[in-house]
Amino acid sequence: MTNVTSENWQVKDEQYVWHSMKPYNPNATSIIQKSKGAWITDIDGKRYLDAMSGLWCVNVGYGREEIAKVAYEQLLENAYTPLSVGHIPAIQLSEKISELLGDDYVVFYSNSGSEANEAAFKIARQYHQQKGDTTRTKFIARYRAYHGSTMGALAATGQAQRKYKYEPLAPGFLHVAPPDAYRANEDHITDPTSLPSVQAIDNVMTWEMSETIAGVILEPIITGGGVIMPHEDYLRGVKEICEKHGALLIVDEVICGFGRTGKAFGFQNYGIQPDIVTMAKGLTSAYMPLSATAVRREIYEAFTGSEEYDFFRHVNTFGGSPAACAVALKNIEIMEKENLFDRSEEMGAIIHAELKERLKDHPYVGNIRGKGLLVGIELVSDKQSKVPLEVTAVNKVIALCKEQGLIIGKNGVTVAGCNNVLTLAPPLIISLAEKDFIVEKLTHALYELLPKA
Ligand code: PMP
Repeated sequence: MTNVTSENWQVKDEQYVWHSMKPYNPNATSIIQKSKGAWITDIDGKRYLDAMSGLWCVNVGYGREEIAKVAYEQLLENAYTPLSVGHIPAIQLSEKISELLGDDYVVFYSNSGSEANEAAFKIARQYHQQKGDTTRTKFIARYRAYHGSTMGALAATGQAQRKYKYEPLAPGFLHVAPPDAYRANEDHITDPTSLPSVQAIDNVMTWEMSETIAGVILEPIITGGGVIMPHEDYLRGVKEICEKHGALLIVDEVICGFGRTGKAFGFQNYGIQPDIVTMAKGLTSAYMPLSATAVRREIYEAFTGSEEYDFFRHVNTFGGSPAACAVALKNIEIMEKENLFDRSEEMGAIIHAELKERLKDHPYVGNIRGKGLLVGIELVSDKQSKVPLEVTAVNKVIALCKEQGLIIGKNGVTVAGCNNVLTLAPPLIISLAEKDFIVEKLTHALYELLPKA
């Protein structure tokens, strides 16, 4: 295969591979061959700093020999046991996840973030059924959030652009507006349950009848919708409202988990403890597919009765495979040994401060936000009216970054079809020099947008 030229790979790629988002994604045209640390190299030998960690997932960085070794060893030791049976890596990983979550949780495994959310919805419905609350079937989610590609997870997603060609999706999902500290600031309000964004959920629960609501699903910070920041008390308020109405709080940590926001889990920034937590991506830093749905023990216990079908009727063949669990354990061990959660918080604070300083006079930079190594830079054509910058200009910034060897992302659905929020989610291991590289190249690309004097 080594005599195939780079152009030939391009031709074959074009011919046979169905890339997600092609041709829409301006980063999608590379064929990557190697990666190490925060850097990826394409088949022509061009290097890029991957400031999106793939799809927000390679948290410990690329090329970790110790993870590859653990996968190899586990595959030889025992390649497969289903979780209808049991194996040691799953036991160790579940105990570790429970410890990181900071309370007593039991863990169910799947292969992707979408599936982890599907499992959460099914667990929530069955939990209520088995507690005798047979009418609790509906979920409340937020507009602008993404929860996955499958029929239930997509139904929970609050982005019509991703949904309308695939309808009808799973029924029973309601949406409310999310908090948005940039466009609908609630800072002047101090009581969590008085926040309009919390009252929106309270009202829908009342109007729909509390006893029909199974739960609320939310990310601590909306990531794929454009890094949308909540009020500091929002999660506390939502948790209180859920308790008032008897609904479960499901927190989607698929992106926010495993250090992205400077804590093991995003919700830990906001002083709450969820009923159900879903996770994927950073759980293995994408070295193997694995996701998890962790539930408070009390929820799990509703599934341990002796009636026929008291158990969770949900099986997936690959979920929680021994090698994937072993990889996750090693990945978490690295995170702890290298102190990557704190590192994300510290490096994040530096990058936020530097970008704010360097871009404070840029006419199109409306808002820089995020937590830890999760950064959103909202581009607007006018800072006063906050009208989103048009998509061609946003794409130009991404292309200019790529030309200079920097991969960044874009997200947000403020206006249909316009993703006007640039995103950064680099591996948590980036050095100060790599941080400088990101700030330098991105600032340069943004100033290139302006007419030359
Ligand atoms: N939830 C969130 C918050 C996500 O960002 C994603 C994926 N980007 C998912 C769920 C779905 O994960 P997956 O693509 O692994 O199915």
